[in-house]
Amino acid sequence: MNDDKSAKPDIKGNYSKILAEINSTALACGRNPKDIKLIAVSKTKPIEYVKEAILGGAKDFGENRPQELKAKFDEINSHSDCDLRWHQIGHLQKNKVKYVVGRAALIHSLDSLELAAEIDKKAKQLEIVQDVLIQVNISGEESKFGISEEELGGFIERLKGFSNINLKGLMTISVKDYNREQNRELFGRLKELAEQYGVRELSMGMTNDFKEAIEAGATMIRVGTAIFGARDYGVQNQ
Ligand SMILES: *Cc1c(COP(=O)(O)O)cnc(C)c1O
Repeated sequence: MNDDKSAKPDIKGNYSKILAEINSTALACGRNPKDIKLIAVSKTKPIEYVKEAILGGAKDFGENRPQELKAKFDEINSHSDCDLRWHQIGHLQKNKVKYVVGRAALIHSLDSLELAAEIDKKAKQLEIVQDVLIQVNISGEESKFGISEEELGGFIERLKGFSNINLKGLMTISVKDYNREQNRELFGRLKELAEQYGVRELSMGMTNDFKEAIEAGATMIRVGTAIFGARDYGVQNQ
């Protein structure tokens, strides 16, 4: 065995393992596992890793760099019959919207009206309606991005003015040093906000906290490390 091969994680095995954990966690708290979508976060990982996850049954992939999402989408979706969905999960700059709209099934990180205007404009050009989630900054610390709880109601009102944006739900990122209980509270708060504003999808939970997220009502979890292994370079921004 060469080094490359021994360094490569068992992606198919990892993917099934996470699916099994989603199942048992959901059943243990009285939820239907089918209501929870696993997004395989393939950021920084090569296309071969994505292909192996596809063989394991993955259909949803998360990226945080728009050019990387574009490159992987263009390579895989143009050569494949299966219907794969790409998710923009990291902070999106206005000047990168052009790479994402028309390729991402869902943008999880809408966090400003300026960005909404840009997404709406690009979606109009392509004659599509772009599905989005609003990133909410629940903790008020740590995370640099996201709409605060206080601003959320007004933000949702203003979004209604953009005809080519469809709001599906909310997304949040937990705080790195939080324990299980703190995570569960934070995720529970996002669930309350979704109910208050009448939106359905809740994107929350990553490798270290997806079980708490499921217990709190997540409809999508974003798991990278537990499927594809540790990333080589730090993920700035998130
Ligand atoms: C990188 C990233 C993830 C995946 O994190 P892991 O800890 O590797 O599972 C999930 N969500 C966002 C927004 C990310 O940037």
